Amino acid sequence: MKNNRYGIIANDDLCNYFSASVKSGSLSHAYILLGDNGTGKRTLARLVAAALNCEQKNGDGIIPCAECSSCKKILSDNSADVITVRREADKVHLGVDPIRFIRDDVFYQPNDGDYKVYIIEDAHTMTAQAQNALLLTLEEPPQYVVFLLLCENTETILETIKSRAPILRMKTPKKEEAIEYLKQNHPSAKTYINNSPEEFDQIYIASKGSIGRVLELISSSGKKQILQSRELTTKLIGALAHNTLSRDFGEIFADFSQKRDERERIIAQLLEIEAAARDLIVLKKSDCPAMLFFTDISYAEELSYCFSAARLTGIIKSSETARIALLKNANIKLTLTEFLSSLI
Ligand SMILES: [Zn+2]
Repeated sequence: MKNNRYGIIANDDLCNYFSASVKSGSLSHAYILLGDNGTGKRTLARLVAAALNCEQKNGDGIIPCAECSSCKKILSDNSADVITVRREADKVHLGVDPIRFIRDDVFYQPNDGDYKVYIIEDAHTMTAQAQNALLLTLEEPPQYVVFLLLCENTETILETIKSRAPILRMKTPKKEEAIEYLKQNHPSAKTYINNSPEEFDQIYIASKGSIGRVLELISSSGKKQILQSRELTTKLIGALAHNTLSRDFGEIFADFSQKRDERERIIAQLLEIEAAARDLIVLKKSDCPAMLFFTDISYAEELSYCFSAARLTGIIKSSETARIALLKNANIKLTLTEFLSSLI
């Protein structure tokens, strides 16, 4: 399978694995594609579906060829043999109804190609009832059926499903690879990278290497929130490093409190503070570690000298305590006051 050309990067191994399995007829009936939002799961799933039905699959060339009519149909999302189900936009879970539809639909032969491919998006949100319904089909699927379960995590997936569907983890690209790809394929991203390189660095690290997430943030108001959140984390860590939290308490508390009605966002902010503190701990032990929060390693190194490892661990623990309290519905203002006071 060729990649990059189809919008997938950093996953050559997976592409080659699927290509070889299709050619040798050794593909499993189900796979779990595991990766964060925006890491290319949907793109890869479409490529697998195209490879399975590619008219060139018995030849020597790379599949999917992207040239035959079957590939063209599938890669442009116009094939009746590729069925995608996903959770409804306003729902937390993927319920049993779409899975019941699949359970009945698998018994109809493919329309054009050799295989019917069912892509289950947000599969990690399937209810237990939905998973049990799926299991019935996974146990004895017709020969022409392949299931691709796209998951952001597998904790909620039943062991009985996992035992029938090998888990394949999506990789994220190296930063240079990601920049190269974005510049070549997305003109708006290229402009952004060229005009605001420092801001791009911040958005990139907040996206944890997910290209889809980078693209989403670059073009949305979410970008502003990310930058504000990072500014607050930087301000707090700076105040702790220079022992100015008592003086800056009011300002930092006010910045936090702007989010007072948004419990989830404050929890995300606390996670970010923990990531920053972890970066500083790791920097004490390693010269060039992978950073979770900081984009400027020399600045982070300078900061790390201001803290003992025990102090950084204490910051993480305080943040975790606050986060757990918020998850248990504790009063937001009180929790924030306790959290910041514990750091002074
Ligand atoms: Zn083809």
